[in-house]
Amino acid sequence: MAMPPIDPGELFGNRFLDQEVPTHRFPDAGMTATDAMRLVALDMALEGDPSRNLATFVTTWMEPEAQRIIAENLHRNFIDHAEYPRTAEIEQRCIRILADLFHAPGETTGARTQGSSEAIMLGALSLKWRWRERRSAAGLPTESPNLVFGGDVHVVWEKFCRYFDVEPRIVPLQEGKYTIGPDDVAPHIDENTIGVAAVLGTTFTGHRDDIVGINDLLVRLKREQGHDVPLHVDGASGGFVWPFLYPDSPWDFRLEQVRSINVSGHKFGLVYPGIGWLIFREKADLAPDLVFEENYLGKTDATFTLNFSTGSAMVLAQYYNLVRLGREGYTYIMRGMQDNAHALAERLEQIGGFELIGRDEEQLPLVAFRLRDHSKYDEFDVAWQLSAERGWMVPAYTLPPKADNITIMRALVKQNFSREHVDTLARDIEQACHTLERKGGAHESERQQMLQSPGH
Ligand SMILES: *Cc1c(COP(=O)(O)O)cnc(C)c1O
Repeated sequence: MAMPPIDPGELFGNRFLDQEVPTHRFPDAGMTATDAMRLVALDMALEGDPSRNLATFVTTWMEPEAQRIIAENLHRNFIDHAEYPRTAEIEQRCIRILADLFHAPGETTGARTQGSSEAIMLGALSLKWRWRERRSAAGLPTESPNLVFGGDVHVVWEKFCRYFDVEPRIVPLQEGKYTIGPDDVAPHIDENTIGVAAVLGTTFTGHRDDIVGINDLLVRLKREQGHDVPLHVDGASGGFVWPFLYPDSPWDFRLEQVRSINVSGHKFGLVYPGIGWLIFREKADLAPDLVFEENYLGKTDATFTLNFSTGSAMVLAQYYNLVRLGREGYTYIMRGMQDNAHALAERLEQIGGFELIGRDEEQLPLVAFRLRDHSKYDEFDVAWQLSAERGWMVPAYTLPPKADNITIMRALVKQNFSREHVDTLARDIEQACHTLERKGGAHESERQQMLQSPGH
């Protein structure tokens, strides 16, 4: 009996080699698993290469053993605490370990979140709730809460204020001053201030606000006027950097007014996206009203989240990193990144023509730099040329108001950015500048593509 003919496309190819892919309409018919896999893979072939993405703070490389844990646990829903009590236990271990790293004075509490954005929303909500409780108890009005922070914060802080109806009091930056301190925040604080947010490792230049100075100001306010304004530290990036690179520089619960801290596990916690953490100084800093008790998954359970279902893989991967590396391992890796950042900065100095931003201060492992001479081309041109010639993603962006006349470029130096990469990138930057010298700046249409935000 003759075999039914097999369609040659099915036998030798993949139908999307010569067919259009579904992009708008819900497809009537399906396709084979292989076709679907190839379709997605072909799209990804055109995607940016994460190892050349020096724009992102987020982890782009993990060890094979960690990847195996992730792959083996994709089918567990983190929120099913009753069904997956070991995952819940591991989450609590991570919270306790991070609270210890951040010098919490005693028993504490916290939450695993999707990233720092969710952690900041939850932390700031707790500030708002605790403020309202204090005001209501004293019979005072609660209509107009405000939150004080600098222009150097991530966009999520303004988002919080808009979404949750809190007046943002934003301290503008200035040319040459890209972080804030006590003198900047003092005039903005009043009885309606739910808290002050300070950044440890800004997205713009990688520096920290004067957290010690702001804490001292708030302590004085409390002692002298009985006005207790909590300080939240946004350690999205810095929370996993400062404890290892600058262990003697206090920014965390060693400072009395620091009541809550967020950190992104998926940045220098060295885990793939998305995981973040919110850690309170003590249990009383979490407003009890924000914790929901439900029992529909089998057992009464308390949740404090904006999201509900999510994978448990990254929680396990975070715990893997904490125990795999310990202080010793994180310190080794952070120093390696810092050494490579310094090496890149030195290479840029040798090339000449670049000004390095605040490299002698405590800083995240990154290089923030700008051109000295803007007469022939600017940072957006360099970013474009570097991407066009070599595929490196090194963003150019303007700083926040009122430092928005300043454009800088920033290269994150992560675990998978080797010394060899440093040399290659430095040569490629030099080459891109040579090209721009000859041909002039990028075309307007090219520049439009480069007008991106500093990211993530
Ligand atoms: C990245 C970042 C955020 C947002 O964190 P996600 O983990 O991406 O949600 C907030 N604040 C700072 C300072 C950041 O660097």
